[in-house]
Amino acid sequence: MKKFFAMLILLAGVFFSLYKWSPQTLERIQSLWKEKPPLAIQMPSLPTAEPAPKPSLETKITPAPRPANVTVDKTAQVIALMYHRVEPATNTTGALNISPELFEQHMQTLKERGLAVISMQDFLAWRRGEKTIPPRSVLITIDDGYVSAFDTARPILKKFGYPWTCFVYTKFIGTGGKSISWEQLGQLRDEGVEIGCHTISHINLRDPRPKAGETNEQWLREEIINSKQIIEQRLGIKCATFAYPEGRYNSHVLELVKEAGYAAAFTAYGQRVTHGAPYDRIGRYAWNVRRPQDMAQAFAFNGPIEAGNEPPDLSEPAAATSITQPLEGETITNDRPILKANLATLGVLDPASVGLRLSGVGIIPCKYDPATSIIEARPGQPLTAGDYTVTVSAKAAGKRVETQWRFKFEPTSKTQ
Ligand SMILES: [Zn+2]
Repeated sequence: MKKFFAMLILLAGVFFSLYKWSPQTLERIQSLWKEKPPLAIQMPSLPTAEPAPKPSLETKITPAPRPANVTVDKTAQVIALMYHRVEPATNTTGALNISPELFEQHMQTLKERGLAVISMQDFLAWRRGEKTIPPRSVLITIDDGYVSAFDTARPILKKFGYPWTCFVYTKFIGTGGKSISWEQLGQLRDEGVEIGCHTISHINLRDPRPKAGETNEQWLREEIINSKQIIEQRLGIKCATFAYPEGRYNSHVLELVKEAGYAAAFTAYGQRVTHGAPYDRIGRYAWNVRRPQDMAQAFAFNGPIEAGNEPPDLSEPAAATSITQPLEGETITNDRPILKANLATLGVLDPASVGLRLSGVGIIPCKYDPATSIIEARPGQPLTAGDYTVTVSAKAAGKRVETQWRFKFEPTSKTQ
């Protein structure tokens, strides 16, 4: 009889591993069964000739039964990391690329600092109160669907045993060159990688670009809702998560994200995420060659804390989500641009100490609002064509802190 149960448990193990349950879930189910075998096992006389029903999509995604004694640590915090390309750096790989060596070093740093990399499904289960996570947990996300996520990042992540999430925009998939293919995404799915949605065309959702004969609303619905359906149909999965292109959204975008049924939507605003953080604005720390301090802050686990369930400041959604304006590396055509940044990641600043410098121009008078951590300034004179660096400096707890970003100004006549 003992042998019989052992066999059944083994078979159950094989069955569940086939359906990509995480080892922890499997272990939990196995231990539950050991304690109290389900009805079907207690009655071996049940007809066995009937084939077991093939699990539908619904059964596959139904969360594991919650053990009665689970205590969810609601004080745990999560940092989400965002990467893009993982390629040997060249002149053309850009600011968002990370070399494979450095990427591996980041993964090693997480390990050395005792930060626990968790899966997206565990993160979502924690949010639902069904599963606990370590006090300092990490989500790894790789955006856009570059093939380097598959052939370079994946082996490194495998080596560390880290789960991760791949956010893809559907228009780019399978277009050759550096794009990932649907077959490769299928393989990632089979290996337990979470596949999330990053729209169809990767355009800032605050700036709709409808096709001819299409309204802004139709375009937004395609980008946010249809994109999810495309991924679900092509991969036979439930696509539970969304990432805003450039981290940008507004109140209507949030409504559509809700209508689409996403369980979490991610911005590009680095912060520690708490249990009560709004599901549709989960911040992420982005790797940027020019701003290594952002990731350093993520690893130190001492950045700003997500503002719980506070309603969003919808009058200023851009400022609340974007790191800078103009964006890092952006080319602009306005010769007197508004320079704006959310300085929350720098810590609690002495408002009187906040200053802004623009390369080639000098100090520009600025406004700093301690309530929103937003600094804003506008050059008094039109800019001349060229590259600019904005430097913001301030004092936080007596220490000088600084942040920088770059943009390019090209007069309209040149770009048209
Ligand atoms: Zn992206």
